[in-house]
Amino acid sequence: APEFYLPLRNLGTHYHGRMEAIAAAERLVGVFETELPSRAEPATGFAPDGAMRVRFEGVHFSYESGRPALDGASFVIEPGQRIALVGPSGAGKSTVANLLLGFIEPEKGRLTVDGQDLAAFDIEDWRRQLAWLPQQPRLFQGTIADNIRLGLPDATDEAVQRAARRAHAAEFIEQLPRAYDAPVGERGVGLSGGQIQRIALARAFLRDARLVILDEATASLDPASEALVQKALDELARDRSMLVIAHRLSTVRDADRILVIEQGRIIESGTHEVLVQQGGHYQRMVKLLEPAAS
Ligand code: ATP
Repeated sequence: APEFYLPLRNLGTHYHGRMEAIAAAERLVGVFETELPSRAEPATGFAPDGAMRVRFEGVHFSYESGRPALDGASFVIEPGQRIALVGPSGAGKSTVANLLLGFIEPEKGRLTVDGQDLAAFDIEDWRRQLAWLPQQPRLFQGTIADNIRLGLPDATDEAVQRAARRAHAAEFIEQLPRAYDAPVGERGVGLSGGQIQRIALARAFLRDARLVILDEATASLDPASEALVQKALDELARDRSMLVIAHRLSTVRDADRILVIEQGRIIESGTHEVLVQQGGHYQRMVKLLEPAAS
């Protein structure tokens, strides 16, 4: 059966130019390595031994003055939880991700990790706890192994191969001439979209990140790849916290908690069952997709 896509992307056909910095970061980062906005004040190292409870506390952010992209967003990502963020185009979903990734900082309110203001941490230390899976991960010129090692140049061949196996990428890699030493270009020449995604997933496994931020792909992959990517994502989410900018009904249904965002505000929050019963925005959205089922 064809996967249902939440009618999000298509609502706004307007083009919104991202800030140069964010665009540049997205190009650079994949999962990830960046020299982006460093902070003025010296920061303390992030101690990765806490539970990793991430909290947005009344966060405001505007790219342009007078037009808030986030307008007092408050929510918690409990350790190990899978949170799905849904809402129409322009609602503020990417802004939430950009804040978590430290590309931008709250203008009002704050982000805390285990009760500590994120602004106090060294951003690079913080980012080492994260894996970011954009919709269209990019590869860089190098071998497959280099691409999986991104950000962790010292990882051993065994570790790279183990990560590839967990990402369900090992099989296709081993069939390439030169396997892990196969050269790939920026566009991952010769690789399918699903294969590139699995390489990005292998990066995330290798990093052993504690919080995964996923912008779910809207473009369909071939069905075989799709199933493998999904399997790898499920495995990645196990024992980790995950925030998914969700575009598929199946992802949303499976989430521990769904946050419905509109015009920069979290307007509903709960599980699929609870939100459907509540009969609000979420229920209407689901009804549009599945008139018979709810
Ligand atoms: P989509 O599903 O279309 O990606 P979204 O929910 O991720 O949308 P955001 O990208 O977070 O929404 O955008 C929230 C608001 O901020 C929108 O009004 C958008 O036009 C605006 N915005 C986003 N990025 C920028 C930017 N770089 N410069 C100016 N305005 C921006």
